[in-house]
Amino acid sequence: MAPAVTMADVLSCPCPVLPDVTATAIDSDAAARNFKAPDSILIIGAGVFGLSTAFALTKRPEFASTSITVLDRSPETGVFPARDASSVDSSRIIRPDYADPAYAGLAAKAQAHWRQTSGPDALGGEGRYTESGFVLAANDGPMARPDGTLTALAYVKTSWVNALALAQREGRPLNSVRMMHSAWSVAKVTGAGEFADWGYLNEASGWADAEASMDWYYKRVVATGRVKFFNGTAESLETDDATRRVTGARLKDGTTLSADLAIAAAGAWTPTLVDLSSQAVATGQVLGYMDITEEEQKKLEKIPVMLNLSTGFFVIPPRNRVLKVARHAYGYINPKPLSKSPLGVPGSAKGQPKLVSQPYTHLDDANLSIPPESEKELLEGLRKIIPLPELKDRSFSRTRLCWYTDTPTGDWIVDYHPYWQGLFVATGGSGHAFKFLPVIGDSVVDCIMGKCPEQFQNKWKWKTVDNIEKAIVTEDGSRAGQQGLILEDELKKHAN
Ligand SMILES: Cc1cc2nc3c(=O)[nH]c(=O)nc-3n(C[C@H](O)[C@H](O)[C@H](O)COP(=O)(O)OP(=O)(O)OC[C@H]3O[C@@H](n4cnc5c(N)ncnc54)[C@H](O)[C@@H]3O)c2cc1C
Repeated sequence: MAPAVTMADVLSCPCPVLPDVTATAIDSDAAARNFKAPDSILIIGAGVFGLSTAFALTKRPEFASTSITVLDRSPETGVFPARDASSVDSSRIIRPDYADPAYAGLAAKAQAHWRQTSGPDALGGEGRYTESGFVLAANDGPMARPDGTLTALAYVKTSWVNALALAQREGRPLNSVRMMHSAWSVAKVTGAGEFADWGYLNEASGWADAEASMDWYYKRVVATGRVKFFNGTAESLETDDATRRVTGARLKDGTTLSADLAIAAAGAWTPTLVDLSSQAVATGQVLGYMDITEEEQKKLEKIPVMLNLSTGFFVIPPRNRVLKVARHAYGYINPKPLSKSPLGVPGSAKGQPKLVSQPYTHLDDANLSIPPESEKELLEGLRKIIPLPELKDRSFSRTRLCWYTDTPTGDWIVDYHPYWQGLFVATGGSGHAFKFLPVIGDSVVDCIMGKCPEQFQNKWKWKTVDNIEKAIVTEDGSRAGQQGLILEDELKKHAN
């Protein structure tokens, strides 16, 4: 049995000091004074990172004279981001439930925006945000791996402590964060199955309709009248080698877009533009959507979002008679050669990566389905969480591969390129960045201006990792499944 965490542990634990994430106070005035805004900015990618950054730029007086362009490979005019972006889906979990207090603090700040449900600034209005409650849970086991990294159980218990601290800070009753110390109590509290051995329900978390939220946010950015949107695919970054500057992007159709500052925010496609080997990798994650009846919807309407970090399976409460299950896992990699090498450091001993894992989505192949083995596992995962007899033999009406930009620690990369001037990178979402839509752009712009929030300075900085051969897997305690699966091999396998 895993050791039980008691209220005494919580009260004596030194960790729940949730930071109020604002730009670094130290030297921030000096940084702002020295900062000169570029005349033109090109943001590559209109997902959470790109769109939120564009909006934040329009609000900063320092950038009042800067022209801002957002480029996205979306094939549909006026549709930003592309429909296969990881920021687009029927739902995304909105939770400040993190083991890391820095992300817990930033997520709490974001959640204040999601909770706005009326008025012109109401991101969470018109059903975009639902505070259904959220169960974060794990199976019994040790608290640390042999290499000292957190296990899923340790992640959940630490997150529970942070959630209690947050409830206290926000003046919510502590019993709005309810601990469940056995599989029996997990089932009792959730009304679902005995799908984990230890967990807690945070009543103050929920989920967002990701597609509707992105659409609302895009229209808000358009309404500023400050941002030009451009449909097109950047094939490579343009450089002036003599001055070591990035000068813009060359598109697949031969067009060149010039800018004083290029921001690479292309999600899981970013490693195809900028050499991020050993820092970030595209991993394909699986989702299944099951059609249910009106009656089944009524039965399940009140369930919370449920996630077992040991297995990675999570279920979002149904809407419009569709139930969604997904797996937060190590995922699949898809290493392929590129027509143009990603921009690296000239003469680097590492050389150019020969193969780069890159997204393969329903826009590349309209008939794409997920590997048969994972479809089977997703169904089993769903049945364990929701053991409704009616759903026992039902299959998915639709599946999807969605791409994380994974980093070894789950931290994002929000930093200038160490070699190329005029290039900033904002990516590395690692499967958890959606919830930060209303705040992430402000943090990115702070970092552009040299005022990166103190808690994130080390986490988000460009990292040079020597061991290029070592495959990247995210080891923040939140991942499940098998490591190193190659998408192409798994797609070829047949389900038993
Ligand atoms: C299955 C799944 C479940 C998730 N669940 C959650 C969750 O519950 N909660 C949460 O907070 N987060 C979740 N996430 C993570 C979150 O969705 C991502 O971290 C976030 O959306 C990443 O945003 P992004 O801007 O980096 O990438 P994207 O949204 O993918 O945007 C990148 C954009 O760049 C464009 N682009 C790419 N290459 C080029 C190019 N060469 N030229 C022009 N444009 C280009 C693409 O078209 C795309 O629109 C989940 C992700 C997945 C895949």
